[in-house]
Amino acid sequence: MATRKLLLLPGDGIGPETMTEVEKLIAAMNREHATGFETETALVGGAAWEAHKVSLRDADMALAHAADAILFGAVGGPRWDGIPYEHRPEAGLLRLRKELQLFANLRPAICYPALADASSLKRELVDGLDILIVRELTGGVYFGEPKEIRDLGNGQKRAIDTQVYDTYEIERIARAGFDFARTRRNKVTSMEKRNVMKSGLYWNEVVTRIHREEYPDVQLEHMLADAGGMQLVRRPKQFDVILTDNLFGDLLSDIAAMLTGSLGMLPSASLGAPDATTGMRRAMYEPVHGSAPDIAGKGVANPIAMFASFGMCLRYSFNMIEEADRLERAIARVLASGLRTPDLAPEGAATVTTAAMGDAVVAAYLAD
Ligand code: NAD
Repeated sequence: MATRKLLLLPGDGIGPETMTEVEKLIAAMNREHATGFETETALVGGAAWEAHKVSLRDADMALAHAADAILFGAVGGPRWDGIPYEHRPEAGLLRLRKELQLFANLRPAICYPALADASSLKRELVDGLDILIVRELTGGVYFGEPKEIRDLGNGQKRAIDTQVYDTYEIERIARAGFDFARTRRNKVTSMEKRNVMKSGLYWNEVVTRIHREEYPDVQLEHMLADAGGMQLVRRPKQFDVILTDNLFGDLLSDIAAMLTGSLGMLPSASLGAPDATTGMRRAMYEPVHGSAPDIAGKGVANPIAMFASFGMCLRYSFNMIEEADRLERAIARVLASGLRTPDLAPEGAATVTTAAMGDAVVAAYLAD
């Protein structure tokens, strides 16, 4: 039996509560389907600070390097607002992303039929929506130098950010986008602003070349990012994979998120380059939401974003497409049966606990 090594980093707030539900599924899959998952659990964020006075221990960083994939809950909370900046809970998350060189951020926007009415768009526009935003995560204007506010000495200041992309950065994110499109509906829409930005012009050129040389079987279209934002709310189902840079990806993925309803539903993945020998990418999977201190410990958090993050792990790290699809169906079925955690329920409707929602998803998975 193949062994699959997972590092679990539940973190703070609702992170541990939602991770517990996914652990139930992992145990059930190992038991019923001999999937061979081996898990190790470590502390990150405020929880690591409490125990070790750092946001992530070196020994746990080493576990992250050794794992096939990482499942991350959430970090942070008001309790740790006053601790030294370099040890703040988010520092643990940033360290993982940086040291593992996770340059590709994947955010799917899936709209389950049972929740289509919770979207800000009309049901017919979002019902059955399934798009994937592939965002460059480690370059572009958030990191480019110079980055400063310069005093011009005449009573004026100048604020400068630098949008910069090197060839290799565009090549590797383009390959990621095309690779993922091949596991889906085989279409990539690349978004930039080539009409006004040199970086957009070059992005377009490199994506076009990588497509021609390496991925001619994938359908490629180019769209200006502003038009892309408009199309995302006008006719979102036209898209399969949206490939874009750090800044535009930040905006477009938040727009796409709103199409699907609640924050408690949204998974994400951050991936690195494929390993030269194994072909496996370094990978970390995490819900989009934070630690939700307002509801932590009450047993009411929605665990679906955490389940869906594990679903992405099955699909993108372990190529377990059948199992990933089965988990998607299990979530859809549980929602269709009417089960709702409080964040999904209309005012006054009956709700279930985190554990009840988790048990239902595991049962639906096993029954498929
Ligand atoms: P949040 O995502 O934690 O919560 C926003 C709102 O959504 C809250 O009302 C919360 O109760 C609700 N919510 C979020 N996830 C939910 C779920 N699964 N089920 C039900 N309701 C859910 O964002 P915030 O309140 O701005 O931040 C809280 C803390 O989390 C802060 O310390 C912040 O820095 C941190 N944070 C961490 C991450 C991360 O670890 N990746 C991401 C965002 C925020």
